[in-house]
Amino acid sequence: MDGLYSFAGAKRNRGTAMPSSIHDYIEDRAGEFDALALDIWENPEKSYEEKRSSAIHRERLEASGFTIAEFPEMAYSFMAEKGNGRPVIAIMGEYDALPGMSQTCSATQEARVPGAAGHACGHNLLGMGALAAAEALAVALAMARLPGTVRYYGCPAEEGLGRIPLVKAGRFDDADAALTWHPADVNTPHRYTTSANIAMVFRFTGRASHAGMAPHAGRSALDGVQILNIGLEFLREHVERGTLIHYIISDGGARPNIVPEHAATTLYLRAPTADALRRVTARVLKVARGAAIMTETRVAREITHGKCDFIPNDAIHDRMAAVMGGMPLPKPTPAELDFARALAATVPRRDREATLAPIGAPLALLRCVVHGEVGDFGAGCRIGGSL
Ligand SMILES: [Zn+2]
Repeated sequence: MDGLYSFAGAKRNRGTAMPSSIHDYIEDRAGEFDALALDIWENPEKSYEEKRSSAIHRERLEASGFTIAEFPEMAYSFMAEKGNGRPVIAIMGEYDALPGMSQTCSATQEARVPGAAGHACGHNLLGMGALAAAEALAVALAMARLPGTVRYYGCPAEEGLGRIPLVKAGRFDDADAALTWHPADVNTPHRYTTSANIAMVFRFTGRASHAGMAPHAGRSALDGVQILNIGLEFLREHVERGTLIHYIISDGGARPNIVPEHAATTLYLRAPTADALRRVTARVLKVARGAAIMTETRVAREITHGKCDFIPNDAIHDRMAAVMGGMPLPKPTPAELDFARALAATVPRRDREATLAPIGAPLALLRCVVHGEVGDFGAGCRIGGSL
């Protein structure tokens, strides 16, 4: 591994010879990776729509000597592979944007296209950073004459299902390790766990009638939705610690004078573990059934997505902390520091605390404009997680 970080026996000669380390490989191409990441930032695509973003990653990897395979399980998912034999190291990249988060490259809130999608949590960097790592690792293995296969998995829809359909289809079965990362305001291995979560839609069906002429003839699907939601509010007090319940009324009927025939609640549930999530989900189903009985409506549940809790791998994280600690971090330019200061000034201190404290980061970091070193924290902490 150490021999990999500094390419064994390679002599550095900028401009002509091969790079002497993974760091040099990436530094030499930083402008190319930056340009592609910026292109994806300026052309954001939401989950399941990442046609262009996926193609940018695929084409770059193909040009770098990776063999591409596209997967039928998810649109715009693919695998790019280089090298031979074991171990098989998977590096996962994601490139979806969030709805309504369009933003210019500036320190003030300013939509590029009002109402359009935007890369709010930096998946334009996530996908491209993972790609840079895959490229550099493949070169490092070849130069060190070590066996091993590097794979980049293009994983659409991190904000939704993520890579679950690919996992279920066995696409990761022969991988020895799967690594990923996420842009953040700290540099640390991801030692903290995340909650398990499930997203469900409860669709109520009642009987439409004119709300003024014949209200007694109607059975309101919206009543079912509202009683479900009120039931969830009472349930909220009596769930296991760390359980979170979030919902919206995703269909509330068309007009007040029509008793709604259809209505729906979209619900996200989070719990510390998958088992705890199963327990609270069973209770939510009882609340939904109760709401249907009370309102003489029918209810159907659809599970749209869900994930188990993230379980840290200490062996990998110990190694990652050591390698990260030994790697020179990028030095921000004065202009970049000014930009970071301007950004930080827009976020109240309590909000910055609210993102640092749950991951176990020392609050002394609030004094830093950027986190200029590698911290190793977060063991035993749990955060809400994605979705
Ligand atoms: Zn994200």
